[in-house]
Amino acid sequence: MAIRAAERTVYPPVVEDGLSEIVARAAPALRPLYVVDGQLMPLYETIADCPSCNLARTRSRTVPGSGPITAELMLIGEGPGQREDELGIPFVGRSGQFLDQLLAGIHLDRENVYVTNIVKCRPPDNRDPEPDEIAACADYLEQQIAMVNPRVIATLGRFSMARWFPGDRISRIHGQVKQVDDRYVIPMYHPAAALRNGSLREVLHQDFAKILELLSGEPVVPAERSAQREPSFEATTTPLVGRAMLSASPVSTRTEQIIEREPDSIFDGPGPLPGQEPLL
Ligand code: URA
Repeated sequence: MAIRAAERTVYPPVVEDGLSEIVARAAPALRPLYVVDGQLMPLYETIADCPSCNLARTRSRTVPGSGPITAELMLIGEGPGQREDELGIPFVGRSGQFLDQLLAGIHLDRENVYVTNIVKCRPPDNRDPEPDEIAACADYLEQQIAMVNPRVIATLGRFSMARWFPGDRISRIHGQVKQVDDRYVIPMYHPAAALRNGSLREVLHQDFAKILELLSGEPVVPAERSAQREPSFEATTTPLVGRAMLSASPVSTRTEQIIEREPDSIFDGPGPLPGQEPLL
């Protein structure tokens, strides 16, 4: 489907000096993530007023999503953490930092990827989202998928995985691609899982390489890990990766500022009890 050039604006709406207060306070490198295609704005405004579950009472701000409506890749995480709740954009905390590295490893820039969560408001005390909260947000996610129409959806963690793979275990199916209608869905560990268990870092890098294979139709050589620390590589262009995908700009360092919540529920099954190893 051809996508019309959408009006682009910032979310939350502009109040002064061309930037809303929250955008003005954000690190300059984060500001592009506030740019919203005009077609998405009515949905973002509906989400901002959403009263449908208990999370509406405790959130600071809603976190609808970031990225262009033309993105070919959609990443779906679990739910906003503290920093996301403050800033209104997803994955700006420590797991966002690692997510940026994972994307850099396959030559993708965060600004060209659509990123959202299964719930748009922060669960208090970093608890798991409840079934009624996921249900209350489900239609928002469906609308986002319909509007962005990505070729590839990667689910990050078990809650978004359950949307397409109910009852399955992430440790069994991560990295395995499922074709759903005219798109691919690929379940991944949540980046926060790798922050807790370093052995999952390489698993995530390998699973992310499959994303680019799906987009390009070719096996992909991941970028050198060192290139992620010194993000100076020239992005390559490939005719096989269309729409909003590759960027010539170096990967941003915007996540330098952040410390925050990471979800507890990144592994299969319930979170570990104190003193217990997580289930992998
Ligand atoms: N930040 C998000 O926005 N989502 C997550 O799932 C974790 C951190």
